[in-house]
Amino acid sequence: MVGFTRILFAFAVSMGSSNFCAWQAFAYEMDGEFGYLDHSAIPAGQSAPLPHSEFEDRRTPGERLRKFSLALKKLGIPEESAPAFLDFPTPGSVALSQIQENFPALDPDGAVRRYLGLDQNGLSLFRDFASSDISSSLLEFFFPFQPKQARKSFFSDSELLLDRLRKIGSQVRQSLYAHPLSGLRVVIDPGHMGNEEWDHHTGKFVSVGGKTVSEGDIALSTALLLAGELEDLGAEVILTRTKNGPVARTNLDTFDHSPYLHQYFYNSLDSWMSEYLKLPDERLLSSVSQAPETARAFTSTQRKQFFIGGEDLEARSRIIDEARADIVIDVHFDASKSHELQSGNRSIEAFVPGGVRATETGSRVVRSHHLKHILEARRWQESVSLASSMIESMGKSLNLPLLSRPEFLTSVKVRDGVYARNLYINRRNLSALMVYLECLHYDHVREFPGLTLKDRTGTYRGATFFYPRRLDAVVAGAKDGILRYFMAME
Ligand SMILES: [Zn+2]
Repeated sequence: MVGFTRILFAFAVSMGSSNFCAWQAFAYEMDGEFGYLDHSAIPAGQSAPLPHSEFEDRRTPGERLRKFSLALKKLGIPEESAPAFLDFPTPGSVALSQIQENFPALDPDGAVRRYLGLDQNGLSLFRDFASSDISSSLLEFFFPFQPKQARKSFFSDSELLLDRLRKIGSQVRQSLYAHPLSGLRVVIDPGHMGNEEWDHHTGKFVSVGGKTVSEGDIALSTALLLAGELEDLGAEVILTRTKNGPVARTNLDTFDHSPYLHQYFYNSLDSWMSEYLKLPDERLLSSVSQAPETARAFTSTQRKQFFIGGEDLEARSRIIDEARADIVIDVHFDASKSHELQSGNRSIEAFVPGGVRATETGSRVVRSHHLKHILEARRWQESVSLASSMIESMGKSLNLPLLSRPEFLTSVKVRDGVYARNLYINRRNLSALMVYLECLHYDHVREFPGLTLKDRTGTYRGATFFYPRRLDAVVAGAKDGILRYFMAME
């Protein structure tokens, strides 16, 4: 447990920042992204130094893919199949300018854009870095922009979703409406798993002086309370879990980890594998099979990570898909260490999709998901509006400041309290508005004691549960923020 915390924390340090104290609190809240390379987990001295200059990275397009295929074959990993673009609902018509407007937050490093051909005619997604001489056989997807006069006959992007949301907006503005959120479908996803056994695996708890606060547990209570409030207003609410424990119905010891293992290697194209791909073929094959990152993929620690950060998050994402949700709210709380309290950091924030960094674009499927967020420019902007409204109201009801730093760790500021971040749930939500809340810091000296008490009784659909009263302010703010979003909708 302690080791796990230290590893995550050390990784955050390695990310580099000028302001150590301000962001250390977020290190613990690293969500379990599979394929996420934790450099500190590799014992020093194991990683062979790579001769960067030996093989210049000036290759014809597709050359690094050829090498990548060789490496995957050597490792016994099947090639990643083509993304299912046909399963995407049509994005409708979107203007180039709208797409470009969102790039600073969605694609801050230009990481996805490396794979895009983008001009007035349309947007092409390639399997390798785009260039003027890239082969059409490497074209993955093409989206044509409509000429301005023709655009009127097409749906604007996310039109059906926005129509549904606007209808709710007009209901909310009619103050006499008994159930103003009637027709709205909301998925609430209480983060992590709660309960002692799973907290041990995830590290998402704080235990000081014999008292413990579990993030998964307070997230569940918050979700149940918010679900009740929204149902009273007429919304249809689907919870990804209503008790503590994983959402995945498979079992940590027996689940099939191969999809996540494969994804781990597909993701490596633009991260740890990229240096090896600069080597001549023979050296590449011997180096990559001896790479510490390769060994790590087959450890029990990584298998557990595949469950927590892959299998379980995918199960949640499938519930979101099946629910055909309009809005997804992920409920999380923040802490920096599991056995210490802090007094320096109280600011809160919400994450929306985006914030894709240069090492996070290796997988074809992952790139296709980013593309969906890029093409549905208006859906992304509505997520920002909803997130902003919710986090502002929560800041007021909790009397906490909104985070305002330009960026921290991998996320990028969109506006005060709203950050774009490439989290699994955010990226994988391909059809609804997405708000991933960090409600408060449960390791703060002024929050922790109150959160250890379960001094309030709640009921959800007839079942009683006990929770700390501070969560009432979280829920009041979240609910108010949702209503304010609809009030302001045009
Ligand atoms: Zn969390």
